[in-house]
Amino acid sequence: MGDPIELINLAGEMPEEDKELIKKAYAFSKRAHEGQKRMDDSPYFTHVFETAKILARLGMDAKTIAAGLLHDVLEDTTINEEDLKKEFGDDIVFLVNGVTKLGTLKYHGHERHVESLRKFFIAMTNDLRVVIIKFADRLHNLRTLQFIREDKKKRIALESIEVYAPLANRLGMGKLKGEIEDAAFPFAYPKEYGQVEELMTEEKNSSEKNLEEVSTKLKEELEKNKVKVAEISYRIKHKFSLWKKLLRYDMDIKKIYDIIALRVVVNNIEDCYKVLGIIHSIWRPLPGRIKDYIAVPKPNGYRSIHTTIFTGEGNVAEIQIRTKEMHAEAAYGIAAHFAYKDKRDKKGDEKSKFKWIEELKDFNYELSDPKKYLEHLKTDFFNDRIFVFTPKGDVIDLPENSSPIDFAYSIHSDIGNHISGVKVNGKIAQIFSELKNGDIVEIFTKKDAHPSGKWQEHSKTSMARKHIKSYLEKNSLLSKLRSLGRSS
Ligand code: MN
Repeated sequence: MGDPIELINLAGEMPEEDKELIKKAYAFSKRAHEGQKRMDDSPYFTHVFETAKILARLGMDAKTIAAGLLHDVLEDTTINEEDLKKEFGDDIVFLVNGVTKLGTLKYHGHERHVESLRKFFIAMTNDLRVVIIKFADRLHNLRTLQFIREDKKKRIALESIEVYAPLANRLGMGKLKGEIEDAAFPFAYPKEYGQVEELMTEEKNSSEKNLEEVSTKLKEELEKNKVKVAEISYRIKHKFSLWKKLLRYDMDIKKIYDIIALRVVVNNIEDCYKVLGIIHSIWRPLPGRIKDYIAVPKPNGYRSIHTTIFTGEGNVAEIQIRTKEMHAEAAYGIAAHFAYKDKRDKKGDEKSKFKWIEELKDFNYELSDPKKYLEHLKTDFFNDRIFVFTPKGDVIDLPENSSPIDFAYSIHSDIGNHISGVKVNGKIAQIFSELKNGDIVEIFTKKDAHPSGKWQEHSKTSMARKHIKSYLEKNSLLSKLRSLGRSS
């Protein structure tokens, strides 16, 4: 079942007292969970150990790893807060308590959804480590989801994709976000998962060979130009994010250039631009595909230069160039600030990047007014997704700039095909209007209401577009047949 040394090795260098802390937490938790089993009949301790492993791999500090080992003792064993405090002190108690109180993000019902989000934010502003432990806990639960009751499975998987993953992404934790989504994907959308798997295996082999050649050639040229390279490697796109992209490109995998991307990691920013120049002197770049996220970072802090090049014989390849520091940040986001201790001193830096967290801390919300709280969350928290609500409080996740038409189709195609009007936040609104995060949307239908060409222009989701298109096609065929019938 592993031992504490495994955790210590995964986490990397640490002082002796930190090692002792992890060993102590390991022994304590193992004793506390003695005899408890999980759904798959494995010892309960396996779960907390695996959670701690995820945290160690993220490079979190010893206290966080220890809290990962202890994260379920308050909820699931006879250990109480006093016991824990005596053994491990205030910090660990704070972290474990935070994770316990956070509970699971309940997802249905407007008020409850807001309440859970609120808990999440407060925990986050108090100590981000609480949230990171919660992510690790969720990730391991997802990886053992096959043993959970059928109806619960889907709910947990969807919730992970729609609430946890965007939060991880917002914290810049790209790796964790991808892992959460991929672990949840087969349970949330089994059919689509199978489809993506199939497409991916076909495409992967040919891309891999192509990149192999590019990589060899590039290494030679960089050496010639005396650019020191820390690492050249591939990354394969996460399956869920590939699926989301496929939806935007009519499921045509040939239009997606970054299924496998080459990553060039160098020592400083100057070298990043040098590498870009060298790449473009060997291969011709695709117009409009050079993205300088070093000069203009993404809202979640992501930095890198991306370019896509023609590699001959109709092949293209995406190359991502970054420094070591950017590389760590892209994978671990905010966690990188705990992992790279030398950087933790530069408080100012961290503050400015995650300013929105600080802002949330200053925000005095009224517990009695969840709507107001949501209003505040309409800042750019969830990058390119919005959450809107049905009148019953169910949460619908849509891309930015979606309209009530998208909303209607995402509930049911029959509702979409018969929209006659809409109320947004209790007021009559245009069906072509843009929805905003937190809107409560009520769709009215009529039997004789039908899609028109204009609907297509005002829909964002491929689901809505697909249904509108097929309705329009069917309809024009019918009217042709009718007019033929009349003329004969
Ligand atoms: Mn747990």
